[in-house]
Amino acid sequence: MKILVVNAGSSSLKYQLYDMNDESVLAKGRVERIGMDTAILVHEPTDKPELKEVSEILDHNVAIKKVVDCLVHPEHGVISSISEVEAVGHRVVQGGDLYSESVLVTPEVKAGITSLFDLAPLHNPAHMMGISACEINMPGVPQVVVFDTAFHATMPEKVFMYPLPLRLYKKHKVRRYGFHGTSHFYVSHVAAQFLDKPLEDTKIITAHIGNGGSVTAVMGGKSFDTSMGMTPLEGLMMGTRSGDIDPAIIPFVMGKEGIGPMEANFMLNKHSGLQAISGGSSDMREIVEGMEKGDKGCKLAYEMYEYRIRKQIGAYVAAMNGVDAIVFTAGVGENSAVLRLSILEQLSWMGVDVDPELNKIRSGEPRLITKEGSRVKVLVIPTNEELVIARDTHEIVKKSHK
Ligand code: AMP
Repeated sequence: MKILVVNAGSSSLKYQLYDMNDESVLAKGRVERIGMDTAILVHEPTDKPELKEVSEILDHNVAIKKVVDCLVHPEHGVISSISEVEAVGHRVVQGGDLYSESVLVTPEVKAGITSLFDLAPLHNPAHMMGISACEINMPGVPQVVVFDTAFHATMPEKVFMYPLPLRLYKKHKVRRYGFHGTSHFYVSHVAAQFLDKPLEDTKIITAHIGNGGSVTAVMGGKSFDTSMGMTPLEGLMMGTRSGDIDPAIIPFVMGKEGIGPMEANFMLNKHSGLQAISGGSSDMREIVEGMEKGDKGCKLAYEMYEYRIRKQIGAYVAAMNGVDAIVFTAGVGENSAVLRLSILEQLSWMGVDVDPELNKIRSGEPRLITKEGSRVKVLVIPTNEELVIARDTHEIVKKSHK
């Protein structure tokens, strides 16, 4: 079965075409600057030359039409007809408390995703545009949605509730949901295979550190707690997001600066984090480079970022009363040996014995970076959210055919 995985954002869209016989990727690509006359499409077939095109792509419908054209292109295509695609799997950021697992798209599910627009105004409307575009360009092909929040549906009430007036939860669904669930699920389950224990007995902390970042406490294969909350702003300091701050700062700053809620939200999401403290960059490569050259802003940004990740890991050791393994994944987690070392050297008290040489190796494969005998194992595992989406889609569509 061939499955197209789509991750639709408001002005961009990423895709991968899988052959589920061997879970190989036949092609992947992206469309950027949707809505503009200089939109960019990059199509990368696995065994054929890449196609790059700049053209007018005014909406998601046109974007998906272009993707379909690329997939069947005489020179750059990987299938002879779009009818070979038997299902489409979509990433959806916010499933609220409506969805604890992936589901087949139906009119009710579309209404459900739409009812959550308030909780994810930047993401869910874009996902719906992606779903509609696929329905138009691939009529009759079953579609599945895989939620970033679903893996965290197992968080207990004491973890997901905020200590706020109860009516906010009852009326407006104000609670913690958590994000990056597909990634935390994938890497924690790969990590469990490195442990000599049944999954039910494992305690794993997964650190998904990319542009956005979250740490999850995974107990017995299930999410017990995660650092993001009602929105992806809570928790760690991130590239451009503040993460945890004293909530009283918000009304204080709004008053002092004369800004409204939208501007405050924008500041916390787009003008904070590494970028704010370093004085310009949100990219860990540039922060480390700046720090090595003696830039004070970069040094402070690095130290705050590292400290907040380490503190979160420590908190989850307490939350689970122990830990068997820590996993690093995503852009920074997979690639920044320097950051991993800074964090891990200061976790020696709890039995982390990092091997600095193993930590430096880059392989693109899951690997251990602790010495033999380290009480807590540490792994670097490349995340693969698209594969999880393709697998879920495959399973659900197979079941629906029965
Ligand atoms: P992601 O959101 O997972 O795609 O991660 C993107 C981020 O990964 C970028 O903003 C960079 O800060 C970071 N990144 C990518 N490559 C490296 C690297 N070699 N060293 C440090 N950070 C990296």
